[in-house]
Amino acid sequence: MQDVKVLIIGSGITGIVLAECFASAGAKVLIIEKRNHIGGNCYDFEDENGIFVHQYGPHIVHTHYQEVWDYLSRFTDWIYYQHRVLGFIDGQFVPIPFNLNTLYMLFPRRLAEKVERKLLKGFGLGKSVSILELRKTEDQDLRFLADFVYEKVFLNYTLKQWGLKPEELDPSVTGRVPVVVSRDDRYFHDPYQGIPREGYTRMFEKMLAHPNIQIELNTDFFAVKDRLPYDLLFYTGPIDEFFEYKFGKLAYRCVEMRFLTFNLESYQPVAVVNYPNDYDFTRITEFKKFTGNTASQTTIGIEYPGESGFPAWPFLDKRNKQIFEEYHREAESLRKENIYFVGRLAEYRYYDMDDAVKRALDVFAEVVGSVR
Ligand code: UDP
Repeated sequence: MQDVKVLIIGSGITGIVLAECFASAGAKVLIIEKRNHIGGNCYDFEDENGIFVHQYGPHIVHTHYQEVWDYLSRFTDWIYYQHRVLGFIDGQFVPIPFNLNTLYMLFPRRLAEKVERKLLKGFGLGKSVSILELRKTEDQDLRFLADFVYEKVFLNYTLKQWGLKPEELDPSVTGRVPVVVSRDDRYFHDPYQGIPREGYTRMFEKMLAHPNIQIELNTDFFAVKDRLPYDLLFYTGPIDEFFEYKFGKLAYRCVEMRFLTFNLESYQPVAVVNYPNDYDFTRITEFKKFTGNTASQTTIGIEYPGESGFPAWPFLDKRNKQIFEEYHREAESLRKENIYFVGRLAEYRYYDMDDAVKRALDVFAEVVGSVR
Protein backbone atom coordinates (compact mmCIF):
# COMPACT_ATOMS: atom_id res chain seq x y z
CA MET A 1 0.00 0.00 0.00
CA GLN A 2 3.06 2.31 0.03
CA ASP A 3 2.42 5.50 -1.98
CA VAL A 4 -1.30 4.79 -2.27
CA LYS A 5 -3.28 7.95 -1.52
CA VAL A 6 -6.52 7.25 0.33
CA LEU A 7 -9.09 10.01 0.68
CA ILE A 8 -11.82 9.49 3.26
CA ILE A 9 -14.85 11.74 3.50
CA GLY A 10 -16.22 11.79 7.03
CA SER A 11 -14.62 10.99 10.38
CA GLY A 12 -17.41 8.95 11.91
CA ILE A 13 -16.73 5.44 13.12
CA THR A 14 -16.67 4.08 9.53
CA GLY A 15 -14.19 6.65 8.24
CA ILE A 16 -11.96 6.26 11.28
CA VAL A 17 -11.74 2.45 11.02
CA LEU A 18 -10.95 2.71 7.30
CA ALA A 19 -8.31 5.37 8.01
CA GLU A 20 -6.65 3.29 10.72
CA CYS A 21 -6.58 0.16 8.54
CA PHE A 22 -5.18 1.85 5.45
CA ALA A 23 -2.63 3.90 7.39
CA SER A 24 -1.40 0.78 9.19
CA ALA A 25 -1.06 -0.94 5.82
CA GLY A 26 1.26 1.87 4.68
CA ALA A 27 -1.12 4.09 2.68
CA LYS A 28 -1.22 7.88 3.08
CA VAL A 29 -4.65 8.87 4.38
CA LEU A 30 -6.38 12.24 4.28
CA ILE A 31 -9.73 12.62 6.08
CA ILE A 32 -12.08 15.47 5.25
CA GLU A 33 -14.60 16.26 7.98
CA LYS A 34 -17.35 18.86 7.80
CA ARG A 35 -17.92 19.15 11.55
CA ASN A 36 -15.48 20.71 14.01
CA HIS A 37 -14.81 17.37 15.68
CA ILE A 38 -14.12 13.72 14.86
CA GLY A 39 -16.32 10.75 15.76
CA GLY A 40 -19.54 11.59 13.92
CA ASN A 41 -22.59 10.87 16.05
CA CYS A 42 -20.48 8.73 18.43
CA TYR A 43 -18.64 11.85 19.60
CA ASP A 44 -18.47 12.40 23.35
CA PHE A 45 -16.78 14.97 25.61
CA GLU A 46 -15.91 15.19 29.28
CA ASP A 47 -17.90 17.89 31.08
CA GLU A 48 -16.73 19.95 34.09
CA ASN A 49 -17.76 17.12 36.44
CA GLY A 50 -15.72 14.48 34.62
CA ILE A 51 -18.85 12.99 33.08
CA PHE A 52 -18.57 11.69 29.50
CA VAL A 53 -21.55 13.20 27.68
CA HIS A 54 -22.64 11.63 24.38
CA GLN A 55 -23.48 14.75 22.40
CA TYR A 56 -25.59 12.89 19.83
CA GLY A 57 -27.43 10.51 22.16
CA PRO A 58 -26.51 7.34 24.06
CA HIS A 59 -24.00 4.95 22.48
CA ILE A 60 -23.22 1.51 23.88
CA VAL A 61 -20.87 -0.93 22.17
CA HIS A 62 -22.52 -4.33 21.94
CA THR A 63 -21.55 -7.05 19.53
CA HIS A 64 -21.44 -10.74 18.80
CA TYR A 65 -18.46 -10.18 16.46
CA GLN A 66 -15.35 -11.11 18.37
CA GLU A 67 -13.35 -9.57 15.53
CA VAL A 68 -14.96 -6.16 16.16
CA TRP A 69 -14.46 -6.36 19.92
CA ASP A 70 -10.82 -7.41 19.55
CA TYR A 71 -10.18 -4.68 17.01
CA LEU A 72 -11.60 -1.87 19.18
CA SER A 73 -9.88 -3.32 22.26
CA ARG A 74 -6.55 -2.41 20.66
CA PHE A 75 -7.45 1.26 21.20
CA THR A 76 -9.36 1.30 24.46
CA ASP A 77 -9.89 -0.39 27.81
CA TRP A 78 -13.49 -1.11 28.65
CA ILE A 79 -15.96 -0.45 31.37
CA TYR A 80 -17.86 -3.74 31.34
CA TYR A 81 -21.22 -2.02 31.35
CA GLN A 82 -24.35 -4.08 30.67
CA HIS A 83 -27.15 -1.93 29.30
CA ARG A 84 -30.42 -2.07 31.21
CA VAL A 85 -33.28 0.18 30.16
CA LEU A 86 -36.38 0.96 32.17
CA GLY A 87 -39.65 2.13 30.68
CA PHE A 88 -41.97 4.45 32.58
CA ILE A 89 -45.23 2.54 32.15
CA ASP A 90 -48.43 2.92 34.17
CA GLY A 91 -46.50 5.01 36.70
CA GLN A 92 -43.75 2.43 37.27
CA PHE A 93 -40.20 1.94 36.05
CA VAL A 94 -40.25 -1.51 34.42
CA PRO A 95 -37.65 -3.42 32.37
CA ILE A 96 -37.51 -2.89 28.59
CA PRO A 97 -37.48 -5.01 26.43
CA PHE A 98 -40.70 -6.36 27.88
CA ASN A 99 -39.79 -9.67 29.51
CA LEU A 100 -41.11 -12.02 32.18
CA ASN A 101 -40.06 -9.60 34.96
CA THR A 102 -41.99 -6.79 33.26
CA LEU A 103 -44.97 -9.12 32.94
CA TYR A 104 -45.03 -9.82 36.68
CA MET A 105 -44.62 -6.12 37.54
CA LEU A 106 -47.54 -4.98 35.40
CA PHE A 107 -50.02 -7.88 35.42
CA PRO A 108 -51.98 -9.37 38.35
CA ARG A 109 -50.10 -12.49 39.54
CA ARG A 110 -52.61 -15.14 38.37
CA LEU A 111 -52.84 -13.64 34.91
CA ALA A 112 -49.05 -13.26 34.70
CA GLU A 113 -48.61 -16.96 35.60
CA LYS A 114 -51.08 -18.01 32.94
CA VAL A 115 -49.48 -15.84 30.26
CA GLU A 116 -45.98 -17.00 31.27
CA ARG A 117 -47.02 -20.66 30.86
CA LYS A 118 -48.38 -19.92 27.40
CA LEU A 119 -45.28 -17.97 26.36
CA LEU A 120 -43.05 -20.83 27.50
CA LYS A 121 -45.18 -23.38 25.70
CA GLY A 122 -45.67 -21.33 22.53
CA PHE A 123 -42.17 -19.89 22.09
CA GLY A 124 -39.81 -21.42 24.65
CA LEU A 125 -37.57 -20.04 27.38
CA GLY A 126 -35.04 -17.50 26.16
CA LYS A 127 -36.79 -16.78 22.86
CA SER A 128 -37.25 -13.27 21.47
CA VAL A 129 -40.46 -12.47 19.61
CA SER A 130 -41.08 -9.25 17.73
CA ILE A 131 -44.21 -7.35 18.71
CA LEU A 132 -45.62 -7.63 15.18
CA GLU A 133 -45.11 -11.40 15.31
CA LEU A 134 -46.70 -11.68 18.74
CA ARG A 135 -49.77 -9.80 17.51
CA LYS A 136 -50.41 -12.56 14.98
CA THR A 137 -51.04 -15.12 17.72
CA GLU A 138 -54.53 -16.59 17.95
CA ASP A 139 -54.41 -17.54 21.61
CA GLN A 140 -56.66 -15.15 23.51
CA ASP A 141 -54.31 -14.55 26.46
CA LEU A 142 -51.25 -14.09 24.28
CA ARG A 143 -53.23 -11.74 22.11
CA PHE A 144 -54.18 -9.75 25.20
CA LEU A 145 -50.49 -9.56 26.12
CA ALA A 146 -49.54 -8.55 22.58
CA ASP A 147 -52.11 -5.76 22.49
CA PHE A 148 -51.02 -4.56 25.93
CA VAL A 149 -47.34 -4.42 24.98
CA TYR A 150 -48.18 -2.86 21.62
CA GLU A 151 -50.19 -0.09 23.27
CA LYS A 152 -48.00 0.55 26.31
CA VAL A 153 -44.49 0.06 24.93
CA PHE A 154 -44.51 0.50 21.16
CA LEU A 155 -47.36 2.57 19.80
CA ASN A 156 -46.76 5.98 21.36
CA TYR A 157 -42.98 5.65 21.49
CA THR A 158 -42.91 4.85 17.78
CA LEU A 159 -45.31 7.69 16.98
CA LYS A 160 -42.98 10.09 18.82
CA GLN A 161 -39.83 8.54 17.40
CA TRP A 162 -40.90 8.21 13.75
CA GLY A 163 -44.29 9.87 13.34
CA LEU A 164 -45.53 6.40 12.29
CA LYS A 165 -47.34 3.44 13.80
CA PRO A 166 -45.18 0.35 14.47
CA GLU A 167 -46.78 -1.59 11.60
CA GLU A 168 -45.92 1.23 9.18
CA LEU A 169 -42.20 0.88 9.94
CA ASP A 170 -39.76 -1.56 8.42
CA PRO A 171 -40.19 -4.64 10.68
CA SER A 172 -36.45 -4.73 11.36
CA VAL A 173 -36.77 -1.47 13.33
CA THR A 174 -39.31 -2.60 15.96
CA GLY A 175 -37.67 -6.04 15.81
CA ARG A 176 -34.62 -4.45 17.47
CA VAL A 177 -36.58 -4.39 20.74
CA PRO A 178 -38.50 -7.69 20.92
CA VAL A 179 -40.56 -9.27 23.70
CA VAL A 180 -38.22 -11.63 25.54
CA VAL A 181 -39.39 -14.89 27.12
CA SER A 182 -36.86 -14.80 29.94
CA ARG A 183 -35.89 -13.11 33.20
CA ASP A 184 -32.91 -11.49 31.52
CA ASP A 185 -33.44 -7.74 31.90
CA ARG A 186 -30.62 -6.64 29.63
CA TYR A 187 -31.33 -4.50 26.57
CA PHE A 188 -28.77 -6.40 24.50
CA HIS A 189 -27.84 -10.05 24.67
CA ASP A 190 -24.52 -9.83 22.84
CA PRO A 191 -21.52 -11.53 24.47
CA TYR A 192 -19.40 -8.35 24.22
CA GLN A 193 -20.73 -5.14 25.72
CA GLY A 194 -19.03 -2.08 27.12
CA ILE A 195 -18.22 1.60 27.15
CA PRO A 196 -14.72 2.83 26.22
CA ARG A 197 -13.07 3.67 29.57
CA GLU A 198 -11.84 7.10 28.46
CA GLY A 199 -14.73 7.79 26.11
CA TYR A 200 -15.37 7.32 22.40
CA THR A 201 -13.49 10.41 21.30
CA ARG A 202 -10.31 9.31 23.09
CA MET A 203 -10.60 5.85 21.50
CA PHE A 204 -10.96 7.46 18.06
CA GLU A 205 -8.01 9.78 18.71
CA LYS A 206 -5.87 6.74 19.42
CA MET A 207 -7.02 5.10 16.20
CA LEU A 208 -6.09 8.21 14.25
CA ALA A 209 -2.73 8.78 15.98
CA HIS A 210 -0.75 7.44 13.04
CA PRO A 211 1.87 9.40 11.09
CA ASN A 212 0.17 8.41 7.83
CA ILE A 213 -3.13 10.06 8.79
CA GLN A 214 -3.99 13.71 8.26
CA ILE A 215 -7.35 15.28 9.07
CA GLU A 216 -8.98 18.48 7.89
CA LEU A 217 -11.88 19.46 10.14
CA ASN A 218 -14.44 22.16 9.30
CA THR A 219 -14.07 21.30 5.62
CA ASP A 220 -16.89 20.69 3.18
CA PHE A 221 -15.73 18.00 0.74
CA PHE A 222 -17.84 19.42 -2.09
CA ALA A 223 -16.13 22.81 -1.80
CA VAL A 224 -12.62 21.35 -2.04
CA LYS A 225 -12.97 18.13 -4.01
CA ASP A 226 -11.25 19.40 -7.16
CA ARG A 227 -7.98 19.99 -5.32
CA LEU A 228 -7.83 16.55 -3.68
CA PRO A 229 -5.88 13.84 -5.50
CA TYR A 230 -6.53 10.23 -4.54
CA ASP A 231 -6.02 6.64 -5.63
CA LEU A 232 -8.91 5.38 -3.50
CA LEU A 233 -11.86 7.43 -2.28
CA PHE A 234 -14.14 6.30 0.56
CA TYR A 235 -17.21 8.42 0.91
CA THR A 236 -19.08 8.01 4.21
CA GLY A 237 -21.39 11.04 3.93
CA PRO A 238 -25.02 11.13 2.75
CA ILE A 239 -25.21 9.34 -0.60
CA ASP A 240 -27.89 11.67 -1.99
CA GLU A 241 -25.67 14.71 -1.40
CA PHE A 242 -22.82 13.09 -3.34
CA PHE A 243 -25.10 12.80 -6.39
CA GLU A 244 -26.53 16.31 -5.89
CA TYR A 245 -29.92 14.88 -4.95
CA LYS A 246 -30.65 13.96 -8.56
CA PHE A 247 -33.05 11.15 -7.60
CA GLY A 248 -34.52 13.14 -4.69
CA LYS A 249 -33.65 13.70 -1.05
CA LEU A 250 -33.40 10.74 1.31
CA ALA A 251 -35.30 11.29 4.55
CA TYR A 252 -33.79 11.02 8.00
CA ARG A 253 -35.48 11.15 11.35
CA CYS A 254 -33.79 13.88 13.33
CA VAL A 255 -33.40 14.33 17.05
CA GLU A 256 -32.84 17.30 19.30
CA MET A 257 -30.87 16.60 22.47
CA ARG A 258 -31.46 18.91 25.44
CA PHE A 259 -28.90 18.67 28.23
CA LEU A 260 -29.42 19.56 31.89
CA THR A 261 -27.04 19.35 34.84
CA PHE A 262 -28.31 18.99 38.41
CA ASN A 263 -26.71 19.16 41.84
CA LEU A 264 -27.79 15.59 42.44
CA GLU A 265 -25.82 12.39 42.76
CA SER A 266 -28.44 10.44 40.86
CA TYR A 267 -31.31 11.50 38.64
CA GLN A 268 -32.88 8.16 37.67
CA PRO A 269 -32.35 4.45 38.49
CA VAL A 270 -30.48 3.48 35.30
CA ALA A 271 -28.61 5.14 32.42
CA VAL A 272 -31.59 5.16 30.05
CA VAL A 273 -35.28 5.51 30.85
CA ASN A 274 -37.82 5.33 28.01
CA TYR A 275 -41.07 7.27 28.20
CA PRO A 276 -43.37 5.61 25.67
CA ASN A 277 -46.61 7.25 26.79
CA ASP A 278 -45.78 10.30 28.88
CA TYR A 279 -44.33 13.67 27.80
CA ASP A 280 -43.23 14.62 24.29
CA PHE A 281 -39.71 13.22 24.50
CA THR A 282 -38.80 9.56 24.02
CA ARG A 283 -36.03 8.91 26.51
CA ILE A 284 -33.70 10.39 29.11
CA THR A 285 -30.06 9.35 29.40
CA GLU A 286 -28.10 9.94 32.61
CA PHE A 287 -24.54 9.70 31.32
CA LYS A 288 -22.63 9.08 34.57
CA LYS A 289 -24.45 5.74 34.91
CA PHE A 290 -22.51 4.36 31.93
CA THR A 291 -19.22 4.74 33.75
CA GLY A 292 -19.97 4.66 37.46
CA ASN A 293 -18.80 8.27 37.85
CA THR A 294 -19.40 9.38 41.49
CA ALA A 295 -19.54 13.20 41.06
CA SER A 296 -22.05 15.05 43.22
CA GLN A 297 -23.55 16.51 40.02
CA THR A 298 -25.22 14.68 37.19
CA THR A 299 -25.93 15.47 33.54
CA ILE A 300 -28.91 14.18 31.59
CA GLY A 301 -29.81 14.31 27.89
CA ILE A 302 -33.47 14.42 26.86
CA GLU A 303 -34.34 13.25 23.33
CA TYR A 304 -36.91 14.96 21.17
CA PRO A 305 -37.15 13.18 17.81
CA GLY A 306 -38.76 14.99 14.91
CA GLU A 307 -37.92 17.14 11.93
CA SER A 308 -35.39 19.36 13.69
CA GLY A 309 -32.02 18.70 15.29
CA PHE A 310 -29.44 16.50 13.59
CA PRO A 311 -30.15 13.54 11.24
CA ALA A 312 -29.90 10.39 13.34
CA TRP A 313 -31.84 7.53 11.73
CA PRO A 314 -32.49 6.63 8.07
CA PHE A 315 -36.22 6.69 7.39
CA LEU A 316 -36.59 3.21 5.95
CA ASP A 317 -39.97 3.34 4.27
CA LYS A 318 -40.72 2.01 0.79
CA ARG A 319 -40.28 5.31 -1.00
CA ASN A 320 -36.89 6.10 0.53
CA LYS A 321 -35.66 2.55 -0.04
CA GLN A 322 -36.56 2.93 -3.72
CA ILE A 323 -34.76 6.26 -3.97
CA PHE A 324 -31.75 4.74 -2.25
CA GLU A 325 -31.67 1.86 -4.77
CA GLU A 326 -31.25 4.37 -7.59
CA TYR A 327 -28.31 6.05 -5.84
CA HIS A 328 -26.88 2.67 -4.95
CA ARG A 329 -26.79 1.59 -8.59
CA GLU A 330 -24.84 4.74 -9.50
CA ALA A 331 -22.54 4.24 -6.53
CA GLU A 332 -21.78 0.67 -7.60
CA SER A 333 -20.78 1.86 -11.05
CA LEU A 334 -18.19 4.19 -9.48
CA ARG A 335 -16.26 1.29 -7.97
CA LYS A 336 -14.31 0.96 -11.20
CA GLU A 337 -13.13 4.53 -10.54
CA ASN A 338 -12.03 3.45 -7.05
CA ILE A 339 -14.84 5.31 -5.29
CA TYR A 340 -16.55 3.41 -2.48
CA PHE A 341 -19.63 4.27 -0.44
CA VAL A 342 -19.47 2.92 3.10
CA GLY A 343 -21.35 3.50 6.36
CA ARG A 344 -24.72 4.51 7.74
CA LEU A 345 -25.18 7.64 5.61
CA ALA A 346 -23.59 6.35 2.40
CA GLU A 347 -25.40 2.99 2.49
CA TYR A 348 -28.58 4.37 4.08
CA ARG A 349 -28.60 1.56 6.62
CA TYR A 350 -29.56 1.42 10.29
CA TYR A 351 -26.06 0.24 11.23
CA ASP A 352 -25.19 -0.13 14.88
CA MET A 353 -21.63 0.80 15.80
CA ASP A 354 -20.44 -2.80 15.60
CA ASP A 355 -22.04 -3.27 12.16
CA ALA A 356 -20.28 -0.12 10.99
CA VAL A 357 -16.90 -1.37 12.26
CA LYS A 358 -17.44 -4.82 10.74
CA ARG A 359 -18.45 -3.29 7.42
CA ALA A 360 -15.38 -1.02 7.35
CA LEU A 361 -13.06 -3.93 8.21
CA ASP A 362 -14.65 -6.05 5.47
CA VAL A 363 -14.42 -3.28 2.87
CA PHE A 364 -10.78 -2.71 3.78
CA ALA A 365 -10.00 -6.44 3.39
CA GLU A 366 -11.83 -6.58 0.07
CA VAL A 367 -10.20 -3.46 -1.39
CA VAL A 368 -6.72 -4.36 -0.18
CA GLY A 369 -7.17 -7.81 -1.70
CA SER A 370 -7.99 -6.29 -5.07
CA VAL A 371 -5.22 -3.65 -5.01
CA ARG A 372 -2.35 -5.95 -4.01
N1 UDP B 1 -39.28 1.06 20.56
C1 UDP B 1 -40.48 1.32 21.19
N2 UDP B 1 -40.50 1.48 22.54
C2 UDP B 1 -39.39 1.40 23.30
C3 UDP B 1 -38.16 1.14 22.68
C4 UDP B 1 -38.14 0.98 21.29
O1 UDP B 1 -41.50 1.43 20.52
O2 UDP B 1 -39.48 1.56 24.55
C5 UDP B 1 -39.28 0.87 19.07
C6 UDP B 1 -39.23 2.22 18.35
O3 UDP B 1 -39.96 2.11 17.15
C7 UDP B 1 -37.74 2.38 18.09
C8 UDP B 1 -37.32 0.95 17.78
O4 UDP B 1 -38.13 0.15 18.67
O5 UDP B 1 -37.49 3.25 17.02
C9 UDP B 1 -35.85 0.66 17.97
O6 UDP B 1 -35.44 1.08 19.26
P1 UDP B 1 -33.90 1.22 19.67
O7 UDP B 1 -33.83 1.47 21.13
O8 UDP B 1 -33.15 0.06 19.12
O9 UDP B 1 -33.48 2.51 18.87
P2 UDP B 1 -32.11 3.39 18.97
O10 UDP B 1 -31.33 2.94 20.15
O11 UDP B 1 -31.42 3.21 17.65
O12 UDP B 1 -32.64 4.77 19.15
